[in-house]
Amino acid sequence: MNTVVLLSRDSLLLKQLQAAFARSAPQLTAVLADDPRAKNAQVAACWFPLPGSLAALPNLQVIHSVAAGIDHLDHDPSCPDLPVCRVVDPGHRQGMTEYVRWAVIHFHRGFDQVLLQHREQRWERPLQRAAGQFKVGVMGLGSLGSAIAQDLATAGYDVRGWARSSKQISGVQTFAGGQDLKPFLEGVELLINLLPLTSETRGILGQATFDQLANGAALVNCGRGGHLDIDDLEHALQRGKLRGALLDVFEQEPLPADHRLWTMPGVTITPHMASAASHDCIAEQVAENFRRLNAGEPLINNADRLLGY
Ligand code: NAP
Repeated sequence: MNTVVLLSRDSLLLKQLQAAFARSAPQLTAVLADDPRAKNAQVAACWFPLPGSLAALPNLQVIHSVAAGIDHLDHDPSCPDLPVCRVVDPGHRQGMTEYVRWAVIHFHRGFDQVLLQHREQRWERPLQRAAGQFKVGVMGLGSLGSAIAQDLATAGYDVRGWARSSKQISGVQTFAGGQDLKPFLEGVELLINLLPLTSETRGILGQATFDQLANGAALVNCGRGGHLDIDDLEHALQRGKLRGALLDVFEQEPLPADHRLWTMPGVTITPHMASAASHDCIAEQVAENFRRLNAGEPLINNADRLLGY
């Protein structure tokens, strides 16, 4: 029996994934948790699985995130100690690159400033500088962050990047580990977060980080909502340490209509749209790992449960 169970609190996503498995992995039977065949499933493909749903699967051998991150698996505290894989889609990189390019040009060329001036019918040309004079910092140099850093360096920006282990990316000054965080942040004018959410990175976008940046810097959070300390962000915006923040991810999604972030001066909200793996790519990668599992071959795109990514 080649059964995959699809687990999520998002019922629309479940329908879309089931259709994608039928199209792109017809050799697998993709069922939902309430289907009696779910108990045969060897693989669970998950996005925010409901609490208790993973422990209810007696034949489970692999837990597959349908996203780049695995932090959402914590939504089900019953998550058993099994190999965890994630999806790495080249289309993911393309989507994130497009989103970040817009963000960088928005802040580098001062569009944030002129959009405010427009509302006041005020003609004032913002200071224009060459890309090479604009310091951009990328937190996280994995599948997404390294592609972003490389793309911005190619576009001529003064780019630096930070990861846990040391990296070499052409045209990018790289920093590694906790001891390098401060020198990495020093003087950065636009900070882009592409870290995974782990016990080490939760709350990293807070006052201690903001204080190292250039005065009037801007923030782009494409990682997870749990990275950001909202009180510290508000304080940094009020005192002018930060001039703006573009936020794509939130602890609670959808962001409730009455959340204070919607009306916080300097904040722009986007609805977790920076990038997503295509449903067909998810189905193909889960199917490939299913094949490898049955053939006794090493799985692809493994994540480390202890590290959290
Ligand atoms: P990845 O390939 O796992 O890369 C993670 C990077 O973060 C690695 O470079 C890693 O360092 C670094 N890192 C992890 N913990 C660290 C720490 N404590 N200190 C310093 N660096 C640390 O992940 P990815 O595929 O690039 O995705 C990154 C995150 O983006 C995802 O986890 C997800 O939260 C977010 N995301 C958001 C969207 C969106 O639409 N907004 C879409 C996709 C993904 P090493 O290389 O040294 O291990």
